[in-house]
Amino acid sequence: MNTISIVVPCYNEEAALPYFRREIQRVMDEMSAACGVSFEVLFVNDGSKDGTLELLRRFAGEDSRMHYISLSRNFGKESALYAGLQRATGDYVATMDADLQDPPSLLPEMYEALQTGEYESVATRRVSRKGEPPIRSFFARCFYKLINRISDADIVDGARDFRLMKRQMVDAIVAMGEYNRFSKGIYGWVGFRTKWLPYENVERVAGETKWSFWKLFIYSIQGITAFSTAPLAIASFTGVLLCFAAFLMVVYIIVKTLLFGDPVGGWPSLACMVMFMGGVQLLCIGILGQYLAKTYLETKHRPIYIIGETDLPASPRSGS
Ligand code: UDP
Ligand code: MG
Repeated sequence: MNTISIVVPCYNEEAALPYFRREIQRVMDEMSAACGVSFEVLFVNDGSKDGTLELLRRFAGEDSRMHYISLSRNFGKESALYAGLQRATGDYVATMDADLQDPPSLLPEMYEALQTGEYESVATRRVSRKGEPPIRSFFARCFYKLINRISDADIVDGARDFRLMKRQMVDAIVAMGEYNRFSKGIYGWVGFRTKWLPYENVERVAGETKWSFWKLFIYSIQGITAFSTAPLAIASFTGVLLCFAAFLMVVYIIVKTLLFGDPVGGWPSLACMVMFMGGVQLLCIGILGQYLAKTYLETKHRPIYIIGETDLPASPRSGS
């Protein structure tokens, strides 16, 4: 009999969780009856400040299929997902949000698709960005165009973190123990054959989104530095270009001085040039700094998450 583990990161989700539990239980009962699979739901409480943990404790007490891992503080969704993936024991593992924006009702179809042996994972992609501010959609589109050009991981526009994977792929992802986690890139990087299921964007059932425009912007920079070193090349390229321009300018000034003498003047253009050079240099140092900071964090080998409390038995792999 196959087991499906469902990993659900939760941060301040007390409003949405009761709806989620009802829906996931319905889907699990249906699938157990239809295809004889068993389930394990791993809720990861990502340092919520509301009643999420109490709810999860209750869920675990009332339904033997449900378990929780509570992190010692808010580590971010990526770390929460990793904690869940590491502790998941199923032959198949699904990751989904707690707000029902990733409809659990798609699970049977996803499971079905993996049975043919043609794919190692089924992922979902929203086809519309309905209900999202246009400016955000615009930046999102630009980001996906850019990162796909400069990175060798295939990152799909509109891809959600809602997917069902076979054990083989889960093990590959768990083996990627990097600190700076950008899961859209990690999924693309490990490869494997993925089937894409498009669906219409659904509004969250209750509670509110944890992503502001600014947070998304920082996240996109993180994605770029984690999966591409092209910006470093841009810095060197700009340097070469500017050297060439400077050389041309020197030639021009020499010729001009020889032909027309050297009346004093031209300090405004000089000031502009100094400013420009200063700007470019700072930009390049900044890019270098981004990568250096990431390297610094990776070399510390800090744990990606720390467990505060869980109803799962202690495992030798926990907490790393
Ligand atoms: N989440 C989390 N830690 C965080 C932020 C979010 O575990 O620091 C979880 C959140 O509880 C939800 C999922 O990640 O289950 C997606 O968050 P949200 O719905 O706010 O994002 P959106 O759907 O708006 O992109
Ligand atoms: Mg959501």
